[in-house]
Amino acid sequence: MEKYLDLKNATDYSKLENAGKIIKNGGLVLFPTETVYGLGANGLDEKAVKKIYIAKGRKQDNPLILHISDFDMLSKIAKNISEIEYTLMKTFWPGPFTIILNRTEIVPNMVTGGLDTVGVRMPSGKIANQLISYAGVPIAAPSANISGRPSGTNILDIFDELSDKVDYIIDGGECEVGVESSVVRVVNGIPNILRPGKISPEDIEKVVGTVKIDEHILKNINDNEKVLSPGMKYRHYAPKSNCLLVYSEDNEKMISKINELAKQYSNPLIISCNENFARYSIKNKIMYGSKENLNEIAKNIFTDLRKVDSFHPDIVIIEGVKKDGIGLAIMNRLIRACEYHYIKI
Ligand code: AMP
Ligand code: MG
Repeated sequence: MEKYLDLKNATDYSKLENAGKIIKNGGLVLFPTETVYGLGANGLDEKAVKKIYIAKGRKQDNPLILHISDFDMLSKIAKNISEIEYTLMKTFWPGPFTIILNRTEIVPNMVTGGLDTVGVRMPSGKIANQLISYAGVPIAAPSANISGRPSGTNILDIFDELSDKVDYIIDGGECEVGVESSVVRVVNGIPNILRPGKISPEDIEKVVGTVKIDEHILKNINDNEKVLSPGMKYRHYAPKSNCLLVYSEDNEKMISKINELAKQYSNPLIISCNENFARYSIKNKIMYGSKENLNEIAKNIFTDLRKVDSFHPDIVIIEGVKKDGIGLAIMNRLIRACEYHYIKI
């Protein structure tokens, strides 16, 4: 059987029926969503879910998100849903929005890392949605990457690290958003943002008023600290090279600081916005998009982080962005990629 399905320019998704069967029968499928690629398995099949952890080298206490295609699936996996949780789901689904809910007995411990809650998302990507429908079960799917590496946003970036480990590969081209879903948990009636994404704190505020941004989004976590989301504890997105994030609201100040820092190294690499690119007179540079278009930067960021090590730099200096809208998600990923080496001036 051919293992690769090209749906890059497809309008007819009926070929996904086969991939749906593979999921239903316990196989692993690499598939695109509107956020990043997912490494999917039948979310109600403990054995199949275990294969995801093995393929990624993921710690078993870091729970997976269940992806659904309609509200009927929701009622099978989550219970005691509050009005505010329904309002959030109805507003942001289908889309890049995950909500943590009380789980039912049917959800395997392997999915939730033993927690009594489950993360649920209804993706808007047509391929993802059709695949879940054909599978007829919720699909457990973390980002498609070996744990710790940047998430995959196109097949080429992840082919070498994952193609041998999956039963089937669906190529849907570049992901539209480029960073993983926003993860929210409602605590005492207030949505807490556990992982920022395209659905921003401002978007959620407009619907339900008060929103809390978890302090660990932009901060390192001590070993003994309790966190609302296990994923916050783990090393993520980091290239092998030493990375440093620099940001100032004053663009000129940021450029001077980066130039000054770069001079202290023999083979620096700078990742900057298009507008500042010409202001750095060194050999190795990557442009991540226009600072006036944070959606473009979000879309490029993981692919750019994957290019870094091939330059063999002794330092990677990355420009930060303003934290408005999807900017908070970009900064969250960059701070982690830099393992919290962050200079704000
Ligand atoms: P990924 O699968 O790589 O997109 O990461 C999923 C993120 O959602 C991780 O940070 C998990 O820790 C988080 N997550 C999934 N399920 C739960 C849950 N039940 N409670 C808290 N966080 C969760
Ligand atoms: Mg991930």
